[in-house]
Amino acid sequence: MLRIEQIGVAYGAIEALHGVSLEVAEGEVIALLGANGAGKTTLLRTISGLLRPKSGAIRFEGEALGNSSAEARVKRGIAHVPEGRRIFPGLTVRENLDVATTVWRRRGMSAAADLDNVFALFPRLEERSSQLGWSLSGGEQQMLAIGRALMARPKMLLLDEPSLGLAPRLSEEVYRRIADINAKGVTVLLVEQNTVLALEVAKRAYVIENGRIVLDGPARELANHPRVREAYLGA
Ligand code: ATP
Repeated sequence: MLRIEQIGVAYGAIEALHGVSLEVAEGEVIALLGANGAGKTTLLRTISGLLRPKSGAIRFEGEALGNSSAEARVKRGIAHVPEGRRIFPGLTVRENLDVATTVWRRRGMSAAADLDNVFALFPRLEERSSQLGWSLSGGEQQMLAIGRALMARPKMLLLDEPSLGLAPRLSEEVYRRIADINAKGVTVLLVEQNTVLALEVAKRAYVIENGRIVLDGPARELANHPRVREAYLGA
């Protein structure tokens, strides 16, 4: 579904990614692991069209994404849940969800079924649908950010540190919902510092260090790999 071929990305003179290649098949959950500053967020932002690679190519469902805009990529089926959630603090929960439907609503389709789907997954959002974004707890904001991405009817969800800043129980809850979303047919590429959680839900994983992929393989194998155990699992 997604094929990243040897991409290089730089912020001015600072090279953040060096020849990164990665593949995600339809239906998979893939985890991208790495320390602070390894390049995880940069990779997700490049896939969703917020950054331009200076070399290499990204293919989605067999077609090169080229210089297409972030909006065009959402229409193609790629939805990005950014790090730090970035919901609209001055809009209600319901309004935050409605925003994402503009990509296909112009064609006159109803969002009722999409809203039902999000509320079934996250009942708290329905209870708080008229509350303003800023007044939600961290966990609720994360659920809203994921719910908002789902309203765009994605084929692939890019999740940047979904457990960041959440208490362990809430992180587990968010991860259970990610598994539910995947079970309904949405492919997932997630970036995570909580290696234990990420390797539980992912089928395969990649490890990125200093802008380069240094390891990849089935999640179970990586969980037992000495380098992963030492650097990311505190073993
Ligand atoms: P984190 O978990 O801290 O977000 P990350 O793995 O997502 O880490 P990136 O945010 O992708 O890492 O950063 C990769 C590299 O690019 C780092 O060296 C970082 O300092 C650099 N970088 C990121 N954003 C910018 C920017 N806007 N301008 C300059 N350098 C940047």
